[in-house]
Amino acid sequence: MNKIPIIVLIMFCAFRIVDVSAQSHPLPSEVKKAFRNNTRSGDGNPGTAYWQNHATYKIEAELLADESILKCSQRVQYFNNSPDTLKQMLVRIYADFYKKGTARQWPIGDADLTDGMQLENMKVFQSSEDENMIAETHRTPTNLILDLNDGILPGDSIIMEVEWEIIIPEKRWARMGNYGDDKFFIAYWYPQIAVYDDIDGWDRIEYFGMVEFYNDFNDFDVQIKTPPGFIVWATGSLENEGRIFERNILKKLEKARNSDEVVNIIAAEDIQNKRVLKNSTKNTWHYTASGVPDFTFAAAKHSNWDGTSLVVENGSNKRVFTDAVYTNEPRTYANAAEWSRKSVAYLSEELPGYPFPYHHMTSVSNGRKGGGMESPMMANNGDPENEANSHATLFHEISHSYFPFFMGTNERKYAWMDEGWAAFLPIGFMEKYYPEYGYFKRVMHRFEGLSGSEKEATLMTLSYQIGDYNSYRIHAYNRSAMAYYYLQDALGDSLFKQALHTYIDRWNGKHPLPYDFFNTFSNVAEQDLGWFFKPWFFNRSYADLGIKKVTLDNQVVVENYGGLPLPVRLVAEFADGSTETIDESTSIWSAGNQAVILQFDKEKQIKNVVLGDELIPDINDENNVFEIEN
Ligand SMILES: [Zn+2]
Repeated sequence: MNKIPIIVLIMFCAFRIVDVSAQSHPLPSEVKKAFRNNTRSGDGNPGTAYWQNHATYKIEAELLADESILKCSQRVQYFNNSPDTLKQMLVRIYADFYKKGTARQWPIGDADLTDGMQLENMKVFQSSEDENMIAETHRTPTNLILDLNDGILPGDSIIMEVEWEIIIPEKRWARMGNYGDDKFFIAYWYPQIAVYDDIDGWDRIEYFGMVEFYNDFNDFDVQIKTPPGFIVWATGSLENEGRIFERNILKKLEKARNSDEVVNIIAAEDIQNKRVLKNSTKNTWHYTASGVPDFTFAAAKHSNWDGTSLVVENGSNKRVFTDAVYTNEPRTYANAAEWSRKSVAYLSEELPGYPFPYHHMTSVSNGRKGGGMESPMMANNGDPENEANSHATLFHEISHSYFPFFMGTNERKYAWMDEGWAAFLPIGFMEKYYPEYGYFKRVMHRFEGLSGSEKEATLMTLSYQIGDYNSYRIHAYNRSAMAYYYLQDALGDSLFKQALHTYIDRWNGKHPLPYDFFNTFSNVAEQDLGWFFKPWFFNRSYADLGIKKVTLDNQVVVENYGGLPLPVRLVAEFADGSTETIDESTSIWSAGNQAVILQFDKEKQIKNVVLGDELIPDINDENNVFEIEN
């Protein structure tokens, strides 16, 4: 095939002397300030003065299963590594989402309405419990603001102590709840110190339902007391498993942690025959985790537990334990431990192709028919009838281990920085195991459905500012997944992966901004990728390529009417019945051009030319076919 791509200069000749910054993406004042303060740098690296705060949580929790209540006390030490004196402290009270009268983005039935989190004996002090630093407290819809008598000086830490109680929802489960039949998943649960960062200071965004994670990397020491017969799975490591489980369970657990095969660690008959727990009264489960952005746990009485494991790093013999917890009548979950193993293998070896960051990944089925919710090392998933759908969700939630957990992105402002990856990463995996499911087409069609419409928000619109659920979904998952997909197409697999690894190397365990992502990719690609980032992330550009004209010597002018860089596929049919296909990657738009000229075989007579195909989004088909009239 003889194809000669010519980048058209039609619109551009006049602007050829434009400096590169005209192509670069815009920078808000907060980011310019961060560059001046050296907390971040223009090449996409963390700055020399980069800082972040962290905390250690010690929580004692008791699950009162019959009453659907969680009763806790906690002691948090919070370290101020910022250069600022903190006169206030912001604490997130997620459970107030269920409080009567609180504004919400999702409706809650009367049955789950509560009086919010009950807090008692709250103290903030430095060394002595007698010197309570709290001058005043204010409760916003879901945040607790503490005005402190003396601020927390740079380099200092404080201790916050509080006792609290929440009612666990039983009907409308917002990421957590009591799922019936003695099954609980507890997330978004404890009074959590918000993030204080170099961009916004305290994160004051409310939790009205839609926004999710933005957390510091903290250490947890959690004791969970459960009624007799309950088993607890959680973020981190179970420190006292030898005192809790019967010998046969410990043996199977050990086997699963060292085996490529799936081991059924707990089966229904083990529970019936009381061969699981040593203690027939209440148990206290002691979990610890360090450097993780959150802690969640599941508690259940009658669940099966399967596990297997795999090595995720060449030359290492450390294994990641992938396990699944599910009820006795699973729809698709009986294979979940193996799926989880395949998911972790794909993520570690293929894309992002970076060793899985945690030592276990527990996927819990709540028994509902769909949906899933991620947390570090834990996922709270539905169990749909369709196996491909179930597997896609399982993979999606596991891939969140990288984004936002390993990478510490701010989902409350930039949900696409994690949901976009979690929607993009399954593409290769799903095409490998479930090609007939059409995963890519599903994601792409949903994007296409909103592209160019009034309700589509630009990716740089802050997530918490979007009130419409469909706009939020397409913004967080679909447009962003397509942006990553065509960025990969533009750079090629190898350069894309190199840039992605550099981004992960630079920013894991930190809080990257979109600009750190853009700048790292431009830095590694050694080109200003503003030509790609501006239309995909900053502008209202939409998917519409069209054939503008076909010349007598078989040149086809393709115009980018929507302005979104996309690959170009042209198929010409000639008068002699033969055809010729021209495929150009997304990089054909890298000069910021609005049109391209592509050359077909000059010796032949074109009958018609068709642009695009069903795998390239395009909201307007009318300009995609050109018939030559004879
Ligand atoms: Zn997600």
